Amino acid sequence: MYVGVIALKQYLKKIYGGSQEEYYSVLKKDLICGTRKFIITVNPEILIMSEKDNQISTMLLDQNASLIPDGIAVVKACKTLNIPITEKIAGVEIAEFLLKEADNQNKSLYLFGASNEVIELLVKKIAVCYPNAKLLGYSNGYVQDKEKVFDEIASLSPDICMVALGVPTQEKLIYKHLDRFEKGVFIGVGGSFDVISGAKSRAPQFFLKHNLEWLYRIMKEPKRLKRFYDNNIKFLFKIKNKD
Ligand code: UDP
Repeated sequence: MYVGVIALKQYLKKIYGGSQEEYYSVLKKDLICGTRKFIITVNPEILIMSEKDNQISTMLLDQNASLIPDGIAVVKACKTLNIPITEKIAGVEIAEFLLKEADNQNKSLYLFGASNEVIELLVKKIAVCYPNAKLLGYSNGYVQDKEKVFDEIASLSPDICMVALGVPTQEKLIYKHLDRFEKGVFIGVGGSFDVISGAKSRAPQFFLKHNLEWLYRIMKEPKRLKRFYDNNIKFLFKIKNKD
């Protein structure tokens, strides 16, 4: 086995192998106890990037990072390499669960990322659907000074902080500032704000059921095809050929 797959295997071994329901129970407890947690939604994109970016590699291996299998490609890779795994845990579903728990447990929130239009829509939706969640603040993801937003987040110390800036900017930013926090669940959620706000639709049930969400996203946004090829196809090829 070559170095590439050996490194990938190290990350894949760290991925949560239980069910989504079990992960929800863990998260629920983390929120009750005020544990500090950094969730990384692992997909082929971040794994492929890790090969050329030591910072990503360090972050994935850090004991503070809780890795979840965000996508069928990661689940298939674990199975191919005989790494125990139960099922895919989609980042967007974790984001929705966190909003629900913020509502159930009266927890505080900070939202950072997406366009101004999307974040405003999301804020309105939270007020209606999750009225007990305490939204401490929010910012769109196109501000010049992203570090400054983290200064604000650090001063507010939310129970939950979701960052939607795309991979790996969102994870790197969280990781850089993590030591400033004693509590809080931090997660990079990619395009989840677009979906939860209602600005974009998630794949219909048929696609979800047959693990074809990736296909739906490419059909909706054909420019994703290159990204899909550069990451998912190369990743699965590497795993299959152990290269
Ligand atoms: N985004 C942002 N600031 C930027 C670049 C991207 O807020 O400088 C947002 C973008 O609007 C989108 C999210 O980051 O809401 C990334 O979404 P994408 O669909 O690329 O992520 P995926 O779910 O595919 O990882």
